[in-house]
Amino acid sequence: MLKFFNNLTHKLQIFKPLKDKKVGLYTCGPTVYSYAHIGNLRTYIFEDVLKRVLRYNNYKVKHVMNITDVGHLTSQADSGEDKIELAAKKEGQNAWQIAKFYTEAFKKDIQALNILEPDIWVKATDTIKDQIKLIQILEKKGYIYRITDGIYFDTSKLKNYGRLWPKKLKKKIKEIDLEKYARIEKIEGKKNLTDFALWKFTPLGVKRQMEWDSPWGRGFPGWHTECVVMASKFLGIPFDIHCGGIDHILIHHTNEIAQAEAAYGKILANYWLHGEFLILDKGKMSKSEGNFITLNDLIAKNFNPLAYRYFCFTTHYRQKLTFSWEGLAAAQAALNRLYEKVKEFKKQVSKTQLNLGQKAKKYQKKFNYFISEDLKIPQALALMWQMIKDKNISASEKYYLLLDFDKVLGLKLAELKEEKIPSKILKLVNEREMYRQQKNYQKADELREKIKNLGYLIEDTPSGPVVRKR
Ligand code: AMP
Ligand code: ZN
Repeated sequence: MLKFFNNLTHKLQIFKPLKDKKVGLYTCGPTVYSYAHIGNLRTYIFEDVLKRVLRYNNYKVKHVMNITDVGHLTSQADSGEDKIELAAKKEGQNAWQIAKFYTEAFKKDIQALNILEPDIWVKATDTIKDQIKLIQILEKKGYIYRITDGIYFDTSKLKNYGRLWPKKLKKKIKEIDLEKYARIEKIEGKKNLTDFALWKFTPLGVKRQMEWDSPWGRGFPGWHTECVVMASKFLGIPFDIHCGGIDHILIHHTNEIAQAEAAYGKILANYWLHGEFLILDKGKMSKSEGNFITLNDLIAKNFNPLAYRYFCFTTHYRQKLTFSWEGLAAAQAALNRLYEKVKEFKKQVSKTQLNLGQKAKKYQKKFNYFISEDLKIPQALALMWQMIKDKNISASEKYYLLLDFDKVLGLKLAELKEEKIPSKILKLVNEREMYRQQKNYQKADELREKIKNLGYLIEDTPSGPVVRKR
């Protein structure tokens, strides 16, 4: 039995898909105007784990992820510039090239993090006609109005606007300073603060690189309209699970729900899951504020991208996670230790057929209990280490369980191979060990440095030095 914290109902709920073992999953994809930062990637790792947990529990998942290549503005308030057109200006390239370049970069990042690709990728610019159709339905039903810069959705026409909003906020909705809370601004002509753009007009005298004709004038679609259309086109309405980062609750996802309800009288998706933010000591990780770290920054410092994946597992997805280089180094060390253990158990795997003992089965059951209870990955990880250390189960069972757990963790444990360490390196390692035994630490350290420069690292363990490729 799977349970998820559903932001639509504001509680932990037993997961019941629409069609017995089939799940429709939509995850808001990247806005491709820049590299993804590791905060963005935390959200995609959480979503990947969700998908793997569903698959581990024998659900067949149909996963759709969009590429936002137009319509996401620099301000949540439907003012400001289109992020991609702005990047194109700054980088002296055309908007289509920018979108293509950063889409490829994003795909490389998720591959490095062993995030499973969606079944369907869909670009916002490939569904413009469908978006216009949705706005026409909303027009027929009387939900839209025109102001100078675009066509807007009248949120006061919808009885239940703000279904994702925390109850506390909803109660005080009239008094609360929404402008501050949700970063919504007043726009000249907008009827209600929460109204949002469905279609923005190309300003007079301007030629945008990405613009289309529509029944209301030349322009481009609003970001929230895009996601409703791309999700429902492939998954229908309603579908099962919609995900994104926590910043999407108040505006983006709220406005997706509003449009689907107004147009089709249905909830867009039954479960809404959101990942909390990755933050820096200094505060928010944000591209606009310039303080952001990319996966390539981690790789440049010799970290394995999967160490970042492991780092994300140390905190529950609904808790803030503070990034630090020390924390990442600890995750890398833990991952290395795990890899050593897997290789050690693999060597001892018995050739006879494996029958999991009671104790091993108990670990497996408990692991599934943790991951199924709103993705308690930190607990599942602690259990994994407890199992590794348990003297009452065999190396074969441990190896089997680790590969089984890795279907969810995705740390590539099945791909580990015994590294062949060149004899020249082994000789240096033995020499260093001799100096260490003699307490000649200066000589030992010199040799460690030499070995490092030759591309190998030594870790001193109670059972002797362990060598691996850098
Ligand atoms: P964007 O490319 O800006 O559309 O964002 C891609 C995803 O990253 C969205 O699901 C956001 O909610 C999420 N996101 C943005 N900033 C962070 C952060 N600091 N930590 C975790 N997720 C984030
Ligand atoms: Zn979206």
